[in-house]
Amino acid sequence: MIPPFSAKSNAFTEYVPARNLIAGEWCDPKTSKETQEVLNPRWGKAMSKVPMSGKDDVEAAVQGAKKVMKEWAAWPVRERAQVLYRVRELMVQNLDELSWLVSHENGKTFAESKAEVEKGIECLEYGCSLPNLASGNQLEVSRGVACEVVYEPLGIVAGVVPFNFPNMVPLWMLPQALVGGNCFILKPSERVPLSAMRLAELFHEAGLPKGVLSLVQGGKDVVEGLCDHPDIKALGFVGSTKVAKAVYGRASMNGKRALCLGGAKNHLIVVPDADPALTAENVVASFAGCAGQRCMAASVMLAVGDVDPIIEQIRARAAKLVAGQELGPVTTAAAQKRIVGYIDDAEKRGAKVLVDGRKAQGDAGGFWVGPTILDNVTLDMPASKEEIFGPVLSIVRVPNLEKAIEIENNNPYGNASSVYTTSGDIAQRVMREVEAGMCGVNVGVPVPREPFGFGGWNDSCFGAGNITGWDGYRFWTRQRKITSKWAVQKDATWMS
Ligand code: NAD
Repeated sequence: MIPPFSAKSNAFTEYVPARNLIAGEWCDPKTSKETQEVLNPRWGKAMSKVPMSGKDDVEAAVQGAKKVMKEWAAWPVRERAQVLYRVRELMVQNLDELSWLVSHENGKTFAESKAEVEKGIECLEYGCSLPNLASGNQLEVSRGVACEVVYEPLGIVAGVVPFNFPNMVPLWMLPQALVGGNCFILKPSERVPLSAMRLAELFHEAGLPKGVLSLVQGGKDVVEGLCDHPDIKALGFVGSTKVAKAVYGRASMNGKRALCLGGAKNHLIVVPDADPALTAENVVASFAGCAGQRCMAASVMLAVGDVDPIIEQIRARAAKLVAGQELGPVTTAAAQKRIVGYIDDAEKRGAKVLVDGRKAQGDAGGFWVGPTILDNVTLDMPASKEEIFGPVLSIVRVPNLEKAIEIENNNPYGNASSVYTTSGDIAQRVMREVEAGMCGVNVGVPVPREPFGFGGWNDSCFGAGNITGWDGYRFWTRQRKITSKWAVQKDATWMS
């Protein structure tokens, strides 16, 4: 049993060591003795440690799943969904505890952590609704002959997730995959292995049979083991583009179904007719929320023409955010160094630092970067084109909308793009022309809420379709097509 996390404030709190969950039992890796510290980024101190498992642990998880997969697949879809209803209730009952755990291992503020857990609950609710959606189709295609489609499990499937949403991203995958009748092996991020453990505990408390959900903690070795294992039929991945691309290639080469979501560089286009207050509020929330560690965070603002009064409101709002209160730390000391490096570099190349977060200081020892706004960023600066993954907004000045759309479309990513305007014409044009899978009109973080599917384009997504919504169900299931005839036909056709 994993005990509930006891913290009720930001005060540093230790938790149990992370472990694997194999065949429904908590255990340590079979052979690997390597461990890593799980740091609380607010304090820069280890609150736990995580084992770096090996391929033999992937094998053990597969063997554990094999024992139960047939029985689980035989549960009617409605009964499988009942487990999700109960997980939802448990998550609601334990909302504060789950949120404090996210806040401590990831660093987000409590409010941001709670919002993440609530979004995870929304994903579960979509899974609960699947028995009403996944009814398949049947048609009498010729006299006495019926064709039918039914959704079948793939068998054993796996998911690999990043550090920035320890509850929500696993819950992008688990509801559809489990209601679809699969056994699931989850590889949490080695930086936030603890929330996944509490989540798995709640799934068991809700009645999920042992072995249906396994956790294998670790890093690259585990991921490669999942990509290579012949009995794992599909792999969902969310993380940086470099790894997403490599994992997609490896899993696909091994004959697996793969959907790998990568990194992002999201652009906001702000035109002079935009509502200043709405735009400022939204842009700041987008680039600084979760300390900029969201794949949907805006990181480049394309300022079309004279939007200086709006920029001034953005500056004033961002300057008021206090690190440690409205803004959490970034994930590691290395991330802090990388982000500050981008700011230093842009300044050296001539960008103007309107708000400077380099000296921000929250609680002692933590990895702090405050909100930062760089103005007059040019396209040759790394800050304009690389994913910084911190609370930094780069403002690029452009003369007109054509140029803004051209810059947006020249960036290789395609996760999100937004426009701020009060003109329907401009909004429609941007929505038609930008190369991004998730677009916003006056919305800085245009995450499609359930039942709409989440997924980007171009270098932000390798594989077909979205990871959530109906696409998710289709990804984790296969369609059986059944053609039936029960009587000899009198009017014979080629089907007879
Ligand atoms: P990451 O790519 O470093 O790690 C993601 C997962 O891959 C982790 O579980 C990690 O253990 C594993 N991994 C790391 N290196 C590996 C390697 N060489 N081979 C195999 N597996 C490896 O990403 P992160 O730092 O945890 O998360 C931040 C990134 O995730 C950002 O780029 C962000 O944009 C992206 N992200 C994307 C989405 C999306 O929906 N597109 C959502 C959340 C985060």
